[in-house]
Order: sequence, then structure tokens, then C-alpha cells
Amino acid sequence: MTMGREYKGLSSISVHGGEERDKYAKSLINPIVQTATYVFDDLDEVDAYTAGERPHFEYGRYGNPTQKVAEAKLAALDGAEAALLFPTGMSAVTTALQAMLRSGQHLIIMEDCYRKTTQFCNMIAKFGIESTFVAPGNFEALEAAIQPNTRLIFTESPTNPHLHVVDLEKLVPFAAERRLKVVIDSTFATPINQRPLEFGVDLVIHSATKYLSGHNDVMAGCICGAAPLVAAIKDFQKVTGGIVDPHGAYLLIRGLKTLALRVERQNQSAQKIAAHLEGHERIRQVFYPGLSSHVDHQVARRQMRGYGGVVSFDMEGDLELTRRFVHALEIPYIAPSLGGVETLVSHPASVSYYDLSREQRLAIGINDELVRYSVGIEEADELIEDIELALKKI
Ligand SMILES: *Cc1c(COP(=O)(O)O)cnc(C)c1O
Repeated sequence: MTMGREYKGLSSISVHGGEERDKYAKSLINPIVQTATYVFDDLDEVDAYTAGERPHFEYGRYGNPTQKVAEAKLAALDGAEAALLFPTGMSAVTTALQAMLRSGQHLIIMEDCYRKTTQFCNMIAKFGIESTFVAPGNFEALEAAIQPNTRLIFTESPTNPHLHVVDLEKLVPFAAERRLKVVIDSTFATPINQRPLEFGVDLVIHSATKYLSGHNDVMAGCICGAAPLVAAIKDFQKVTGGIVDPHGAYLLIRGLKTLALRVERQNQSAQKIAAHLEGHERIRQVFYPGLSSHVDHQVARRQMRGYGGVVSFDMEGDLELTRRFVHALEIPYIAPSLGGVETLVSHPASVSYYDLSREQRLAIGINDELVRYSVGIEEADELIEDIELALKKI
């Protein structure tokens, strides 16, 4: 029943991390334990369980064996003491924040964060938790935003869609001196490209719907951090009920096995595509942290091992031309989300920010000509050829 050796490489951890060698019925693959509840032999066994003397699964909302393996794998990948799974990334974000904050407290959140996260921070004002929004990297504004009741800084890195990279070597000591917790949404980086806990961040959140599962067929989210903090959030989850289904946990384990391979491929392809687009006569500006022209390239070089699979760019032209370009691409699907094996393309002005006025969009850099290209695992040369054909067509 040993967990076996401590795997060192990220690909070895992706395949073997968190799994016991000796599995049910000598199965090679970890089984899906599809049950809603668990049985006790007698009430003495219940007593031993409730006294904490004997581990036992109890009821599905409190966790299941398949989920436990996925969590152990995620913890190993992020170098965390503990991890906790959720049915979506947003469930992870909202449960963590609800567990970590109370009425009368204040949090600071970076302006570029995922839109539903910022909406949640606005929503919890009705529970007496106030939020202040600060531009990522603006430490003067960050300092000015701190109040006596500030408890937490919520950040995301790299951010969507301009891929700003927040300097963790600067942010973490800044927060520690002021006794503030730091929570980072590291979805765009994955544990392959960035391990925020090594920088002293308190809690890492991922939307596992994206790279971690990697196949656009399951929704999940997770948090990784120190055991006491994760346990406190789990106590909250047991009540609020955002639990991942065993089959979803299984799909995540299956996806995670190839995480390192996929992300390395996506890093390489995105770099190649970004370099191809930079300086192209039809492209005004490319946003990719792996390019030396990106505002946060130096920070990214220090804290990331790879720059990720998302490339954003402003087309030379207008709204009409940009829409025609998106329609002319043949390989990518037009869809929200990112991180899967299929390349996806998004036009943020039409897709994620359609509810804002043009002026509001422009104020946060969402131009009509902005395209977000989430690279899959197809051959980079074929994707570039497809982009070139689309550019010729329009
Ligand atoms: C998708 C996403 C989320 C939300 O995750 P879901 O799994 O869709 O709930 C949160 N943060 C980032 C950066 C994301 O890309």
C-alpha cells in the first residue's frame, strides 16, 4: 500500500504523484468510486471514526476516494502540503474567500482578475466584506489601498487577456510585512510553469477546467496550500456543498497524467506563434510574456519556467476586419475557455466583455481588434499556416 518513491520530475509527478502503487483489484488505473455514501460495519466502527482513530469515508459531500487521489496529485505538483478539489474554479474561489474572510474585513484584488472573481468581490459587499481594486504591479496604489481591516490580497498571474505577470518576489514580502494573506489564481500558469507556494504565497487556486484537466470535457477547480488553511476551507466546503463528482475527479486524474507534456508543447508553440506574429504587418501588438517586448517579460523570466499557451494580439484594422479574421481561421474553434488540447480563439470584445460599453472596454485595454488565441497541441507550423491563410483571405 506504499505511496512509493518521491517523484522528482514534474512529468513523473503528473503520472504517479498521489497514487498508491497497489490499487483496488490490482487495477493499474485508479478506480472511480461512484457512490454517494459509505458503510460502517457497526456502531463501534463509527465511534472509532468520529474519535479520529480510524480513517473512513463517511458521506459523499465530505469527500470521495477518487477525489482524494486527484488532490494528492495536485498537492504534489504544486509542492503543497494539501489540496482540495471543487466542482468548478469559481467554486474554489468563492469558497476560499468565504472561508478566509468575515464581515467587517477588507480585501484588495488586482484589476485584471477573472471577471467572475471580481464580480464575486463586488457581491460580498452585501455580507459586509469590502473590496478595493488595484492595477497589477502598482505597489503605490496597493499601499494606498490598505486599511486597518485589510486581511487579504487576491491576485492572478498571468492575467487574462494581456498576460500581466505579478512580481511575487515583491508582492509576498510586501504582504507579509503588513500581515496580509496572499491568494493567487495561477490557472494560466499551471504548476508546470509557476509554483507560487515556493515564493511564500498562502494559497494557490486553479481552474482545473483549463490546463489541469486539459481536454475540455470536465469542470473542476482546486486550492493548494498549507494543511491548516486547506482544512479550514474544507470545513466550509462540507457545509456549502461544492464537491466534485467521482467521475469528474477521475477525468481530472486522467488529464493530469499528461499535464507536463501538454504544457511544454503549448509553451513551445505559443512562443513560436507569438514570435511569428510580432512585427507582422497585419498585427499591431502581441501580448506574450515570453517576448522581450512584453512589459512583464523580466518578471516572468525570474518566476516562471515557461510562459504558457495563451497569446493575445491586437490586429491592424478595425472591429469588422478582426471579426472576419476570427471567422477565417479554420483550426481553432470559437469558444470561451483555454488550456485544452484543441486550439480555441476568442474575441474578448464580443465574448467576455459584451456587457460593457465600448468606452468601458477600451478603458481596460479590451480593444475591438484584440484576439485571444489559446494554443492547443496541434503542430505549431500548421497553426501558423492557418493564421497566414486567414490573414490573406481577409
Ligand atoms: C476559467 C477561469 C476561472 C473560473 O473557473 P471555472 O472552472 O470556469 O469555474 C477562474 N480563473 C481563471 C483565471 C480562469 O481562466
